[in-house]
Amino acid sequence: MTADNIIDGKAIAADVKERVKREVAEWIDAGNPQPVLATILVGDDPASQVYVGSKRRTTEEMGMRSIHHELPADATQEEVAELIEQLNDDSDVNGILFQLPAPPQIDDEAMTELIDPLKDVDGLTPVSIGHLVEGKPGMVPCTPLGVMEMLRRTSVELEGANVAVVGRSLLFGKPMAQLLIHANATVTQCHSRTRDLPGECRRADIVIVAIGRPKMVTADYVKEGAVVIDVGINRTEDGLVGDVDFDAVQPLAKAITPVPGGVGPMTIAMLMHNALAAAKLQAPVRA
Ligand code: NDP
Repeated sequence: MTADNIIDGKAIAADVKERVKREVAEWIDAGNPQPVLATILVGDDPASQVYVGSKRRTTEEMGMRSIHHELPADATQEEVAELIEQLNDDSDVNGILFQLPAPPQIDDEAMTELIDPLKDVDGLTPVSIGHLVEGKPGMVPCTPLGVMEMLRRTSVELEGANVAVVGRSLLFGKPMAQLLIHANATVTQCHSRTRDLPGECRRADIVIVAIGRPKMVTADYVKEGAVVIDVGINRTEDGLVGDVDFDAVQPLAKAITPVPGGVGPMTIAMLMHNALAAAKLQAPVRA
């Protein structure tokens, strides 16, 4: 295989953002209010500041409005809850993004559960997760949604395909498996207790890995001609690497995502998609 098998996440993300930007303009032209995405950051974790900054910038680039609330590192859970409730009640706000993880005195899960499901751009509230399992329209977590978009744009056949999803987090692995099931794939959900992980992966037509273990998935895990999606982001002495040993697996794969430049850029693009979707979901409620 040549480098033609590399899935360019940056280019696909740029396309998605171009589409969202166009649809935001059409939405506003049709007489609807400019969509508003509110971000909440508790504390001063430098990585979270960078993430939120980039989400805010991209929101504005899409033609939507970003409003930002910053609470000090020693903010109480009551203060965070109060802010979320206030944003839930504010009919000008369409989306609420609570940047995780918050400092230890804050229960991330409890705070996420307070977000109005119609404004849940991360798709992590119990109502959003329930809708996803039921196959009903609703907000879907950004990274698995981004992987679905990549597979669609790469014309990967999902109907009847065997897919191994490695990782079972609420943020990625579980919603990923649900989306694939709805697309009629046969899904094997693997995790740290899976008995024969290389064997499970080798049986799969598509291997999707989100474990947070640098380069753990080697050529031994992948059958010739499989599609490999690497969600992992690991900071190592060699720089940013994925969960897949890219150099070893790329020659075998029909298609593969690199790290960086693969799944990573899709997450923020799909967040933008979700912010506009939230504004549209709320439109009948407003009327
Ligand atoms: P979590 O730590 O929440 O979950 C990791 C999952 O991997 C768990 O289900 C765990 O199994 C499983 N796992 C860990 N070690 C092994 C192993 N040796 N063999 C098999 N399974 C294993 O992580 P996330 O899902 O949040 O993230 C995973 C990776 O994806 C990270 O590198 C993260 O940075 C990246 N990520 C990237 C995003 C992006 O935008 N590109 C977005 C989200 C995540 P068990 O349940 O049994 O413990």
